[in-house]
Amino acid sequence: MSLVARLLLLRPYFSLRSVAFRQPCTLSIRSTSHHRQSPSRHYHHAPLRWITFRPILMAAQTQTTEQALKGPAADNTNGAGVPAAKKQKTATDAGAPHATGQQQDQKKKKKKKVLPLAVQLRARIHQSAKRVDLHADAFAAYEEAKRDGIKLPSDCLVTLLFLAAGGDQWETYVYSEEKRAEHLETGRLDKCDEILASLRESSSSNSETPMVEMCYTALARKEAIMGNGEAALQQALSLPDPLQRRNRCFLPALAAFGKRGDATRSLKVYEDLMQSGLEPGETEFAKILEAISKSESEDSAVAWETVESVLRHMSRETSDLEASTIDVLRDVFGSRTAREAAAAGTSGTSTTWSTGLCTVRADGYCERCDDTLQAIDLDDGEYAEFARGISSLAEKQGKRPDDFHGFVKWLDEHGPFGVIIDAANVAFYNQNFESGGFNFSQIEAVVDRVSADYPDLKPLVVLHVNRTRGPAASAPKARALLQTLTEQNRFFAAPMGSNDDWYWMYAAVVAGSEGILVSNDEMRDHLFNLLAPKYFKKWKQRHQMRYTFSADPNSLAFENPSPFTRCTQVLRKADGSVSWMFPVARAAGKDNDEDRDDWLCCSTTSGKR
Ligand SMILES: [Zn+2]
Repeated sequence: MSLVARLLLLRPYFSLRSVAFRQPCTLSIRSTSHHRQSPSRHYHHAPLRWITFRPILMAAQTQTTEQALKGPAADNTNGAGVPAAKKQKTATDAGAPHATGQQQDQKKKKKKKVLPLAVQLRARIHQSAKRVDLHADAFAAYEEAKRDGIKLPSDCLVTLLFLAAGGDQWETYVYSEEKRAEHLETGRLDKCDEILASLRESSSSNSETPMVEMCYTALARKEAIMGNGEAALQQALSLPDPLQRRNRCFLPALAAFGKRGDATRSLKVYEDLMQSGLEPGETEFAKILEAISKSESEDSAVAWETVESVLRHMSRETSDLEASTIDVLRDVFGSRTAREAAAAGTSGTSTTWSTGLCTVRADGYCERCDDTLQAIDLDDGEYAEFARGISSLAEKQGKRPDDFHGFVKWLDEHGPFGVIIDAANVAFYNQNFESGGFNFSQIEAVVDRVSADYPDLKPLVVLHVNRTRGPAASAPKARALLQTLTEQNRFFAAPMGSNDDWYWMYAAVVAGSEGILVSNDEMRDHLFNLLAPKYFKKWKQRHQMRYTFSADPNSLAFENPSPFTRCTQVLRKADGSVSWMFPVARAAGKDNDEDRDDWLCCSTTSGKR
């Protein structure tokens, strides 16, 4: 998430419904299985990092005290927040110097009036919020303001509430008794109520609505630190506008129940989270699984069938799993519930779970459990949702929204297409030499080959219109190719002001489960990050067909997609044995470490075997 987006999320006086905030909403593409509310919230799985506002001090020096206190959004008359956001970004980019340093500089130049105390305190609070070792100073400034009867604006109070509830370290305080004691020692946790009271007072004295989602999340964190999972859940649920709920509101309750090993309560939070129209991500699943792995008593444990349904849900929502999640999964399969289920699952009483890391063969075969991973595709509803997401992004990002709509209609009219060719990618392949350039012969070679190899799948060549006007396109062979393809309705030129990536991506997705995308594009671009990862990652593994050429276009060779999908899978054999396979995320920078064990295999082993 960009800095600006984070700032926008945190601005307490910032309308959460504003245009700027809503923009990323459309990027989220959700499954049809849950009722739809505000999809934007699914983009905020990541733990919140507190961003404070360096520009405040700069602003304070060029504005009146009142303006500075209200913050940059205050003079934003259109209410959309966009200009304010831009202003902040610019100031941040410029890098506001350190407070005292800047004051000194200013003094040297010419005598300037000293900043009013209120402005100084506000700047101090935001400055010190940025570093854990400076948090104490934020509270010292708060005490000073109280002593001098200075009313702090709501953004300061929200910052203080966030810090009082543990800041970015809140989870450490939930899990470590020692760290929790240290935080309690500072007395900040006790300040929550007082800050909250000031915040409510400030909200009643002006038109701002300072009790934003962050406040409820902070209060939920406070409860979790105190070990009150139930109260933490109530904070999440008490947000007056349920549309503001995010996964992070529920995370404190999940952490508290996870730590305590209360699977029953943890699953209640999981239900509430989904009933709020949210979808758990890996972070939330890991906490639920932690509760399951630790639940030993009858009333805190849940049935193994329930555990399996959580794992199946996780399979749909996630791909590779972090090492910490893998550790929790090992514990889940070592838990009492798992052991009892394995023992009861077969007539042989000696059935147990065996867990271990392993590699799988290129064809998906796992030697450890003697079974083979499957190719898992999106279901019809997921395809539809995925395609809708792409088209709405394409419409928003294109210069003229009607352009993409025109393409959708054109596809309807001339489709269905089965093989989509990202023609720019093909034409530029291996052209990084002196006389190299946009090579239409390579496009032709791909069209010919897919027509021969997949006679039932109609190919579609997608290219940006600019490429049809360049010098390469005026060569007789290129002209002939484009003319033939156009006549056959197998060619679409993405119009001026559009990004052709959206066009081939969309066409390839609406091609459905048989669809093939011919492209070597790694799809790591910013654009692809906008797509819902749970659909995009699985889709890409199944449908992207890479290719190679050597010097001659006739040397074209295709590389089929992997025969299996990297995602959590359950494999069941006829003899009743079961294995759960979990893909382990590669550590950053270790993409090519092929020999590494990158699956966790949890399989039943019977004493009889
Ligand atoms: Zn296995």
